[in-house]
Amino acid sequence: MPQTTAKSLYPSASTGRPSKIAIIGAGAVGTAVAYACAMRGDARSIVLQDINKPKVEAEALDIAHGIQFTPCGSVEGSDDVEIVAGADLVIITAGAKQKPGQSRLELAGSTVSLMKKIVPNLQKVAPNAVFMFITNPVDVVTYVALKLMDLPRNQVFGSGTVLDTSRLRYLVSLETGVATQNIHAYVAGEHGDSEVAMWSSAEIGNVPLAQWGPTLTGRTFDSELRKELATEVVQSAYKIIEGKGATNYAIGLSASNIASAVLRDENRVLTVSSLLEDWEGISDVCMAAPTLVGRNGAGRVLNPPLTLAERDGLTASAQRLRQVARDLGF
Ligand code: NAD
Repeated sequence: MPQTTAKSLYPSASTGRPSKIAIIGAGAVGTAVAYACAMRGDARSIVLQDINKPKVEAEALDIAHGIQFTPCGSVEGSDDVEIVAGADLVIITAGAKQKPGQSRLELAGSTVSLMKKIVPNLQKVAPNAVFMFITNPVDVVTYVALKLMDLPRNQVFGSGTVLDTSRLRYLVSLETGVATQNIHAYVAGEHGDSEVAMWSSAEIGNVPLAQWGPTLTGRTFDSELRKELATEVVQSAYKIIEGKGATNYAIGLSASNIASAVLRDENRVLTVSSLLEDWEGISDVCMAAPTLVGRNGAGRVLNPPLTLAERDGLTASAQRLRQVARDLGF
């Protein structure tokens, strides 16, 4: 007969450690990421780190006061990078935001200098973490960080066009009345002006987009409508920044979605930005493509069917990103 002891009736606290997400930068984006991750319970412990001590402490406390209503265990903020120690996933949002009318690529120089400063310290305190970059221009920042960190490609990736893909699906959903979750369409390439909507592989449910027939507005997904929707996706960040100074809620949810794919080892297909090695003839650049994302980070990059025009668009996007990295000495 097993002996019933006080110890077995009241087991001590788990000997394991809670899952931990560290978010660098507690601005509009970092706080939205923290809020989304806390609400969705992507990790038990969430920490925010920022050089602005009063702000980061206040932002963390504000979210922590709502923990009762979330599956999250703790939210803390500090200006000390040591708070990142032991993180499973580090999400980097630190950096200057785009000014109205400014392209993401114009931000590159100052952001790269900032990354040179912060990335080595993050790697020192959380050497085994998966690192996800959100700071723009995200593809160039991810490439530079990968070079600075010298880690395997899977461990360092960017949020890529996960947000742009969600924006495209939202627009197709509005046009058709079908739930966004059933729109299977991807945006790849630069998170920015040269990105490419991969229309030829898009499906609604399991119906190829080209066979969908009339939309709610009586149009069909012809080249004119496709161009209109893709342009709206590219323009949407500019429009939001014009109106409110930053985009933050949808990127917060996008990042939380990616975080969950990593920490729950979901192997989801997400258009993150990772180092491409002979993907559709494209190499030595970080750029978004449909990629399996799981506990090890960015895994296999998928090869969907592409038209020649889509392939040319992706090649041009890669060349543009590579050139910016070269101009910055990488
Ligand atoms: P923000 O100015 O509101 O916040 C940036 C924060 O970074 C500030 O709180 C600042 O104190 C902090 N910071 C600066 N230097 C730091 C350092 N050395 N260590 C720690 N923290 C530091 O800007 P934001 O609106 O939050 O945007 C942040 C970044 O995210 C920008 O580069 C923006 O373009 C990018 N962004 C990317 C996407 C995407 O889809 N990839 C979407 C939206 C925004």
